[in-house]
Amino acid sequence: MTIRVTPIQTGWARMKAAQKCGQDGRGAFGRKLDIIRDTIWVGPFPILAWLVEHPEGRFVVDTGDTARNGTPGYLPWWNPFFRKMVQIKVAPVEEIGFQLHGMGIDPARDIAAVVLTHYHHDHTGGLDHFPHTRVIGPREGYQRARSFAGKVSGCLPQRWPTWFRPELVDLDGPAVGPFGRSHPLTRDGRVFLVPTPGHVAGHVAVVVRGEGVTYFLAGDATYAQDDLRAGRVDGVTADPAASLATLRAIAAFAADEPTVILPAHDPDGPRRLAAGEVFAPARPGSCVPVPA
Ligand SMILES: [Zn+2]
Repeated sequence: MTIRVTPIQTGWARMKAAQKCGQDGRGAFGRKLDIIRDTIWVGPFPILAWLVEHPEGRFVVDTGDTARNGTPGYLPWWNPFFRKMVQIKVAPVEEIGFQLHGMGIDPARDIAAVVLTHYHHDHTGGLDHFPHTRVIGPREGYQRARSFAGKVSGCLPQRWPTWFRPELVDLDGPAVGPFGRSHPLTRDGRVFLVPTPGHVAGHVAVVVRGEGVTYFLAGDATYAQDDLRAGRVDGVTADPAASLATLRAIAAFAADEPTVILPAHDPDGPRRLAAGEVFAPARPGSCVPVPA
């Protein structure tokens, strides 16, 4: 089996423009106020998970969201962010389990591990499809995601499956390029985690070194390659400075080896993946258009 990455889109998300891209110089709290005040919606953007096929097994990176997100009572009434600041649409057949079955893959038997980049609801919503599968997630950020602080900032631990006990990993492996630490997922070292904090503390990205090209499964470290190239930090970041340092590290990594950047909500990601289009930094003086 050669190494292959396949997108799995679990529906769509719309968000405020101020969430997609925050204002330079604004702190984490100010950015959230900007989202509340903003009247401009952007999207819909895909909610992407990824299937990584590797000789040592198949990995699923993030699980997308669930059709239950649109069911009365699923989102907590006391947290207006979920209902007023973001719109999620997932059909039952778009959930990751159905799509894997459609690809002839049994989530219970054919997946070596599910890997979570972080614990936001649109990455954990499909966990119900994996009760018999090893689930790996970053240790940093897990306790917070389970706490009240997590519930007010994009996590729905009250909707996690009762069996959910992820194998928590520390990124205590060797440095890789601009990333000071890593964590291998395969014995051959071609699939590994790197720290990409900012969007949330403890956020990780999954790096897959394929044949002559590397895939960078960015989670929400950046919402889109254009944002990465322009150094634009999102509006929900827990730490704008850490987010910017992460964007610079990703760009530096992609300057060192041909890399296809695959964020979880970039509509152009699947096309770049199919075309093998690697990241090219912005040319000095070039104008980067702001997506509508
Ligand atoms: Zn997120």
